[in-house]
Amino acid sequence: MPSVATAPPIAAIATAPGRGGVGVIRISGSRLEAIVEGLIGRPLSPRHAHFARFRAADTSAIDEGLAIFFPGPNSFTGEDVLEIQGHGGPVVLGMLLRRCIELGARHAEPGEFSKRAFLNGKLDLAQAEAVADLIDAQSEAAARSALKSLDGAFSLEVRALVDALIHLRMLVEATLDFPEEDIDFLEAADARGQLCELQAQLARVLATATQGKLLREGMHVVLIGQPNVGKSSLMNALAGEEVAIVTDIAGTTRDTVRELIQLEGVPVHVIDTAGLRATDDVVERIGIERTWAAIAKADLALLLVDSREGVTQHDLDILGRLPRELPVLRVFNKVDLTGDVPGDVARDVVHVSAKTGEGLDALRQRLLHQVGWHGDDGVFIARERHLDAIRRASAHLDQALAAYQQVELFAEELRLAQNVLNEITGEFTSDDLLGVIFSKFCIGK
Ligand code: GDP
Ligand code: ZN
Repeated sequence: MPSVATAPPIAAIATAPGRGGVGVIRISGSRLEAIVEGLIGRPLSPRHAHFARFRAADTSAIDEGLAIFFPGPNSFTGEDVLEIQGHGGPVVLGMLLRRCIELGARHAEPGEFSKRAFLNGKLDLAQAEAVADLIDAQSEAAARSALKSLDGAFSLEVRALVDALIHLRMLVEATLDFPEEDIDFLEAADARGQLCELQAQLARVLATATQGKLLREGMHVVLIGQPNVGKSSLMNALAGEEVAIVTDIAGTTRDTVRELIQLEGVPVHVIDTAGLRATDDVVERIGIERTWAAIAKADLALLLVDSREGVTQHDLDILGRLPRELPVLRVFNKVDLTGDVPGDVARDVVHVSAKTGEGLDALRQRLLHQVGWHGDDGVFIARERHLDAIRRASAHLDQALAAYQQVELFAEELRLAQNVLNEITGEFTSDDLLGVIFSKFCIGK
């Protein structure tokens, strides 16, 4: 672990690229005095906002603004941190950053500030990931749950599980010293009961984490439908007032290829297959490949048809090209024109009117049900990495139960389960994994 005393200073622009009223440069490392002296020309008292001129090598001014110095370990990274708030233009921030490099800092890698915070024990790994997830949040519910993880709600759950495991391990390890009596001893202590209770606890955390992953990644819906059946109208109606971001991926001349709407705070990525057709156009073909890549990880296909016309051959062709295991929900739109009863009419059929809103609640519930959404009460944000760790821990507990009569095997499986759980908070994690996790962060975080 790099200690606060030896960390070489790193610097990055912490605010988003582009122009803004204020731009922030963050510098972290040991011995920032030289940078403070060279940039500002006088020492700064800790945790005070100082108005200052930021100086070039020849002492001419680059910019002016606020400087705040946080001596380690009471800082985000645990190291000395200098925050410079200048004017938010790319050129002036670039000049300031270059000046910091000139004074001995190097460019920070993506996520390097958070990584140092983790290595210095300021955040555990699940919390560090929550920083990135908060920044990337696609809905308010996702942001709230990311903040919960950042505050440690998820880590606390994991620690409680690890504590219970340690308790059980101590019991089992103790019996290893008395081989003749081991099984009786474990029976008397109800080791089996404790194990089952642990499994139940793991299952509860897994259920919550699954909801958290849904908030982080959203659900992916493939939208199939001919022109004019009401795809755009339906998306707008479903999104209601919650329309968040509409992303246009370049490459198709027809409808939007992807849209992002929200249902009860769950981000829903809608992938429109309108652009899926044979083409010689290179750019369009790239768009089509992206569409197929998106379809590969979809949770559900929505086949939208005009109730007056029903399913067309073209719809069936596209349906036939979708992954076999992808569930399909048929949505008959424009029931206001046919007099069909709106709502949930069969297992995989819903009648709606995007125009009048009839049947939309049934459709929303059906979509959320498809991905197992139960609402965001008490949900902390989570990633597939976390779910995977919980599942593997659970598998080790199953093995432990199966090996109950052989105390050494039993003990070993418990040890493995504990290691796997510790991967979540990063207490047991390889450098490779850390590299993968932090490289996905944005620079300056
Ligand atoms: P898209 O091409 O599939 O995206 O279809 P649009 O959403 O652009 O809708 C095509 C036309 O159908 C528009 O004139 C809409 O106003 C109309 N429309 C869409 N949904 C309904 C509906 O439920 N009832 C009626 N009566 N018209 C609808
Ligand atoms: Zn449209």
